[in-house]
Amino acid sequence: MPAETNASLRDNLLLEALRGPDRDAIRPHLKAIFPPKGTVLFEAGEAVTHLTFPCRHAVVTLLITTRDGRSAETATIGHEGAVGCVVGHGLLPASTSAVVQIAGPMLRIESQILQEVKRRSAPIRDLFARYADCLLAQVLQASACNALHPIEQRCLRWLLTLHDRIGSASLPITHELLAAMLGVQRTYLTRVLSSVQDQGLITVGRGRIVVRDRARMEAAACECHGRVRQHYETVLGAVYTAAGIDHLDVAAKASEDVE
Ligand SMILES: [Zn+2]
Repeated sequence: MPAETNASLRDNLLLEALRGPDRDAIRPHLKAIFPPKGTVLFEAGEAVTHLTFPCRHAVVTLLITTRDGRSAETATIGHEGAVGCVVGHGLLPASTSAVVQIAGPMLRIESQILQEVKRRSAPIRDLFARYADCLLAQVLQASACNALHPIEQRCLRWLLTLHDRIGSASLPITHELLAAMLGVQRTYLTRVLSSVQDQGLITVGRGRIVVRDRARMEAAACECHGRVRQHYETVLGAVYTAAGIDHLDVAAKASEDVE
């Protein structure tokens, strides 16, 4: 297996958590890909043929698109997780589309092969069941957040979620994209970002938002980001520790393109 694929295995927390025979069972079936930003991994209604593991700073968003053409984020998934057939048993239709928001290396495995691997390994089944529980918790919390919390707090939740996943203070995200994620008009979002910037929490740049004060962002955000993160830490334990995040932090910083 090529060295870069080996490196990527360590750069997804779920894959990194696999040990011995479980890692050996899945490794030969993983294929390295590097889909560019905007790539649609699958559309809603399509059969999900692969499970994809974002690695390092890669981020995929699950989107719901409404009949009038608008869309909103339902979950943001990075190196802590996997996209597609996490819960199902392969080749079931997707309920959302999955779009690459931040390009990076990914590993993927065919759904049907994964089901066979899971069938043979209780630890792998347990790991995926725990991850599925966390992903559901993330979606449920976002559902409550979208209904109850003001836009500025929702915006901070999303920025903190992205910061966790790409491990870099510099978030490569445009106003257009963030507005689409939050389901608000771009002009409205720009006013919200200006307010957050005036508080010294972030710096808004061209195509980039820089995290200036993570602790104060957490204090200013609603409780939703903290709750989800705590759930991940409790349910996935060592898979989602601060050490795991720090490990990725180094990798992401090393690869970050300098403006
Ligand atoms: Zn909230």
